[in-house]
Amino acid sequence: MLLEGKKALITGVANNKSIAYAVAQACKEHGARLAFSYPGEALQKRVEPLSEELGGEFVVPMDVTDSNEIQQAADTVAAKWGNVDILVHAIAFAHRDDLKGRFIETSREGFTTAMDVSAYSLVAMCQAFEPLLNPEASIMALTYYGSQKVVPNYNVMGVAKAALEASVRYLAVDLGPKQVRVNAISAGPLKTLASSGISGFKTILSQIEQRAPLQRNISQEDVGNAAVYLASDLARGTTGEILYVDSGYNIMGL
Ligand code: NAP
Repeated sequence: MLLEGKKALITGVANNKSIAYAVAQACKEHGARLAFSYPGEALQKRVEPLSEELGGEFVVPMDVTDSNEIQQAADTVAAKWGNVDILVHAIAFAHRDDLKGRFIETSREGFTTAMDVSAYSLVAMCQAFEPLLNPEASIMALTYYGSQKVVPNYNVMGVAKAALEASVRYLAVDLGPKQVRVNAISAGPLKTLASSGISGFKTILSQIEQRAPLQRNISQEDVGNAAVYLASDLARGTTGEILYVDSGYNIMGL
């Protein structure tokens, strides 16, 4: 088992279609111990049964827009586990109105919100959890190709994902001397709550089937398996990297 006994804090489980759910499931299959965070009390009821189903040891509130709550989550993890081996950041948010139409119309508030929740949150989490990270711990975030190229309607989230990916590289340098690795998985499109907010999402899915080398969309399980690799010692020489799990779509020119 690749992750035997490793302690993994998983963010971003909203339901059983969430990418984080698949990541948690795959980590569990490889022997990891799990804990889950949720944003705000209202969501506790949704996350608790999923945590139980996946054998989670505890759940902890962590709305990433609140630095105190992130610190409290780190304190809870410290009290329960003492340290942590795997941090999974699977969090993103932009206003629905900013995920359609012209990017130029993004408001200052919409831009700031998308950046804060979707990009800065990784930095804030790394800050708060740094003292708890075991040597050779693995931190990973979820990103999307709209950071690199223009994807219609992805708009401000593309900009936020570009910031997230750059943050992965800078964090990898800061945490590298401790042998802590920071990477991101750039996942192909998957039907989830978050992606349902993106206008024309079905067109993106059909484009992959037509143009990606593997001629199929990826599955949640494909991402889970890649996450196990990044979390495990098999990837101990890899940091600051963006690993594409997208049926090869990103390599295509025309
Ligand atoms: P999801 O199931 O809707 O997960 C998104 C999660 O972010 C939810 O659990 C959501 O919680 C959480 N979140 C939003 N605001 C938050 C806050 N302030 N504090 C803490 N958590 C917050 O959708 P998903 O597609 O699995 O998304 C997971 C990650 O994968 C995201 O980073 C997304 O951009 C990325 N990704 C998705 C795709 C795709 O096609 N689906 C492709 C590439 C990358 P609530 O729902 O409870 O608010």
